[in-house]
Amino acid sequence: NAKNDGRRTFRFYEPAMDAAIKARRDLEDDLRRAAARDEFVIHYQPWTDIATNRIEGFEALVRWNHPERGLIRPADFIPLAEETGLIASIGEWVLHHACAEAALWPNDVSLAVNLSSVQFRNSKLVDTTREALERSGFPGHRLEVEITETVVLEDNKLIHETLSELRSMGVRIAVDDFGTGYSSLKYLRCFPFSKVKVDRSFVKELPHDLDCITIVRGIVEVANGLGMITTAEGVETAEQLYMLRSNGCGQAQGFLFGRPMPAAEVAELLAGDRIVAVA
Ligand code: C2E
Ligand code: MG
Ligand code: MG
Ligand code: MG
Repeated sequence: NAKNDGRRTFRFYEPAMDAAIKARRDLEDDLRRAAARDEFVIHYQPWTDIATNRIEGFEALVRWNHPERGLIRPADFIPLAEETGLIASIGEWVLHHACAEAALWPNDVSLAVNLSSVQFRNSKLVDTTREALERSGFPGHRLEVEITETVVLEDNKLIHETLSELRSMGVRIAVDDFGTGYSSLKYLRCFPFSKVKVDRSFVKELPHDLDCITIVRGIVEVANGLGMITTAEGVETAEQLYMLRSNGCGQAQGFLFGRPMPAAEVAELLAGDRIVAVA
């Protein structure tokens, strides 16, 4: 009868849901132990001065080397890390580790580290950053932190203070993925930003999409006008590069110049003249 059918349907879904919940819980347990087991690695992706194609710095991008699943991309564990609060300790590990590795680079090469909005909800971030700089000997003026609009959206006193303290240590602040989400031009005035990173979704459509050309040109003009540097994300072709350059964008990053790479490859690259040949 109908009642039994209903129950059967319910039972049909139950094991599947159990499995999904269990998989998530297993991943969470693994993630909790990952730091202690030394399973995180950082890959570094260069960005260049757009006028010279010379490498100016590298962005630290974390990966999780899972014992069974292999290398897991941040998109597949950062959200879980944020929900569970584990991002605080992962973020701390990234800061310490990236500063320690970057301390071996030539003294005109910068390091960028991504920060989650969750890391701004407690006041430890400034202390963590100061510790990472002190312990590694990496100077604050060569460190850049990348934040997204979700941080900026929470327009409160703690975030203002945190960003100002980082600035006073010489650390530069970049707005990541600009133009997506809830970005508002208002925030560019409210916070002490040094750089705006134009989101890859616009760069991807260059050089042909007229709307994206207009958007990129607009972001660059506003940011430059406010005294900030602009970096184009996700530059994959020489045509995109030419278009960005002719529109006043200051820096470029993307597969055209290099994919995220292990620290050993960075060292090799830095041994040369740092000018990337683009076809
Ligand atoms: P993001 O900071 O915007 O980093 C750029 C992402 O775009 C990286 O993906 C990079 O590999 C990819 N990318 C760079 N150039 C190109 C290109 O030319 N073409 C294409 N198709 N992709 C390109 P990844 O490494 O998977 O990182 C994804 C996101 O995860 C990052 O976006 C960042 O928001 C987050 N993330 C990475 N590391 C950390 C971290 O240590 N802490 C936090 N909180 N977030 C991180
Ligand atoms: Mg970034
Ligand atoms: Mg980005
Ligand atoms: Mg992005």
